[in-house]
Amino acid sequence: MSGRAKILREINKNKTPKTTLAYKEKNSIDVFGENVFSMSVMKKRLPKDIYQSLSKTVENFSELDGAIADVVASAMKDWAIEKGATHYAHVFFPLTGATAEKHDSFLVPDVSGNAIAEFSGSTLIKGEPDASSFPSGGLRQTFEARGYTAWDVTSPAYIMESPNGATLCIPTAFVSWKGEALDKKTPILRSMQALNKQAQRVLKLFGDDSGKIVSSTCGAEQEYFLIDKHFYSARPDIQVAGRTLFGAPSPKGQQFDDHYFGAIADRVLAFMFEVERELYKLGIPVKTRHNEVAPGQFEVAPVFETANLATDHQQLVMVTLKKIAKKHGMECLLHEKPFAGVNGSGKHCNYSFGNANQGNLLDPGETPHENAQFLVFCAAIIRGVHKYAKVLRAVVASAANDHRLGANEAPPAIISIFLGDQLTDVFEQIRKGVPTSSKEAGVMKIGVDALPDLPKDAGDRNRTSPFAFTGNRFEFRAVGSDQSIAGPLVAMNTIFAESIDYVATELEKATSGDISKLNDAVHYVLKKIMDEHGDIIFNGDNYANEWQEEAAERGLSNFKTTPEALPVLIDEDVIEIFSKYDVLSKEEIESRYETYLEQYNLKIGVEAKTVAEMASTIIYPAAIRYQTELAESCLKMKELGVDSDESALIKTASLIKDLKAGIDELISLMSREDDDPLAAAKYCCGEILPVMLKIRETADKLEDIVADDLWPLPTYQEMLFVR
Ligand code: ADP
Ligand code: MG
Repeated sequence: MSGRAKILREINKNKTPKTTLAYKEKNSIDVFGENVFSMSVMKKRLPKDIYQSLSKTVENFSELDGAIADVVASAMKDWAIEKGATHYAHVFFPLTGATAEKHDSFLVPDVSGNAIAEFSGSTLIKGEPDASSFPSGGLRQTFEARGYTAWDVTSPAYIMESPNGATLCIPTAFVSWKGEALDKKTPILRSMQALNKQAQRVLKLFGDDSGKIVSSTCGAEQEYFLIDKHFYSARPDIQVAGRTLFGAPSPKGQQFDDHYFGAIADRVLAFMFEVERELYKLGIPVKTRHNEVAPGQFEVAPVFETANLATDHQQLVMVTLKKIAKKHGMECLLHEKPFAGVNGSGKHCNYSFGNANQGNLLDPGETPHENAQFLVFCAAIIRGVHKYAKVLRAVVASAANDHRLGANEAPPAIISIFLGDQLTDVFEQIRKGVPTSSKEAGVMKIGVDALPDLPKDAGDRNRTSPFAFTGNRFEFRAVGSDQSIAGPLVAMNTIFAESIDYVATELEKATSGDISKLNDAVHYVLKKIMDEHGDIIFNGDNYANEWQEEAAERGLSNFKTTPEALPVLIDEDVIEIFSKYDVLSKEEIESRYETYLEQYNLKIGVEAKTVAEMASTIIYPAAIRYQTELAESCLKMKELGVDSDESALIKTASLIKDLKAGIDELISLMSREDDDPLAAAKYCCGEILPVMLKIRETADKLEDIVADDLWPLPTYQEMLFVR
């Protein structure tokens, strides 16, 4: 029996869905937040004054009062121990986009030979992981390798359960000994403050001086693939690179659209229920689940939360998907393009901002006054996206996402905004209109006329736009499935803070304290923004070739690959806004740029090695075996004096030659070393990737002709359809 036949036999034995939950005994909804040291738990367990001080800290994103830390830590420890925890971990988010944790036990031996559990305020607030091997892009030399983790009070501690014990997890920011950000969380917190500060100025002009913090919000839709673990074990490429580096297309792909929103297979549903229950325990409000476009592809999306919490929770969603998939005998693939020729996976970031007084500030509202305020924020976003489209492109750049952006399934690398017909029409009227001449036909008068009803219906949405208005929020669709949403959120918060700052300054100048001038001032500013930045609005088909041309005429950037996209991070204007709003200093942003380039180069390096190795040790030998079979058969036929068909042999032999030549070429290309990371990235992109692809094409042709029982790798058809 061939290796693949054995795999299929094993899978068929294990296909029955796993019953892992006693869901009838305890409804999954009742476990929500069970493992979270939430505000309500704290309210019950902390002295009143301490609770009040802490909740103020959380509400205002301010710093924790060191004097109360011991009391909080002690309550947290008691709670965690009641839940079975023996250890605590400072969880942090390094620049690799992963989640990192360092565990310590509560245990302290005492003089009498026993042990007690200890957890002090200082260990709660500050940790010191030996994290010198995390990438810092030059921010830390080895002699000053120390990094500190500091509890982010706005993200609650939680218990992570595992079969043999539980761990108290404390979400932290990770900074160098000089206070430079080494992680993804620190800039999120800073960028949220920047946005709040500027938004307050606009709100004040519109009469909201409640001072209630404006927070950005995010709901991230996570797409992923599931494959059986047996396939995973037999595919070194998926194990090492997260994607298939070889594989001929399946005769049936996604052309029938029969998977999208189809009935969810039992085995997958069993997995989803368990994922959801685990996430509920952690207080993560996952809400929707469905089959996605490609066979074997699915989506999970939560109810939105504030950006900081949404980011931490999103990381937990990824960790949990992977963990629970294994439990169900499957592997969850978060890579942006695990299978060539089928839909890739994205992570749409739904984004807005709001405060406790007014709720969502990107909701158009019903009155002309609310509409005017909405239009101001919306215009600021139009301006920000136009001015810093390159930043939005750069923060979603990665080796993996390059396969997706522009592949006619995800938005192209050109960043534009979809507003929908009605809202575009409103902005066009503003662009044309003269604010003082009232009631000109078809011209909207700000502060007097109400907006038309904007469609919230999903059917009316444009799914090809990278940045789309969807009725009461924007959806940033270029984000990749495996990426942390921190980068995109930091970018959005920062560029919109800059834009809102601009708008607020203009409005303050134009009204100079006389609020009766506000509507005219708004009209003036909106018109100016439309004149200067209206070109970023595009409601058409972003996949069309004509758009590529038109976008170029409009002067919109189109960075197709990561080595083109990343260098904008160190453009002068980009460094300037990040430092002006105290989000990232010049050094911090440079270190990020270097780290991301390095990540890109490492990724492609590993992929190239894997291609060479698999081609040499798996595919080449299989092809040679087949060639030998064919040759022996031809020889025998000749001996018997029977006419034999040698075409398959000739074709196989020629493909084998091509394969060998490709491997040799790749190996020689890989021997070059570049000291300059950008030069190395360009080399990877321009030289290495095309040869990897060439080898793959030859290998895939071989897959199409080599005898099925000799083909060693699980096929696309098997991986995508066997569940
Ligand atoms: P669709 O697939 O149609 O875009 P989903 O229901 O899958 O819609 O996802 C929509 C996401 O948008 C959800 O996570 C939802 O919570 C989120 N969302 C809704 N309102 C806001 C908001 N004000 N800010 C951020 N995200 C929001
Ligand atoms: Mg969706």
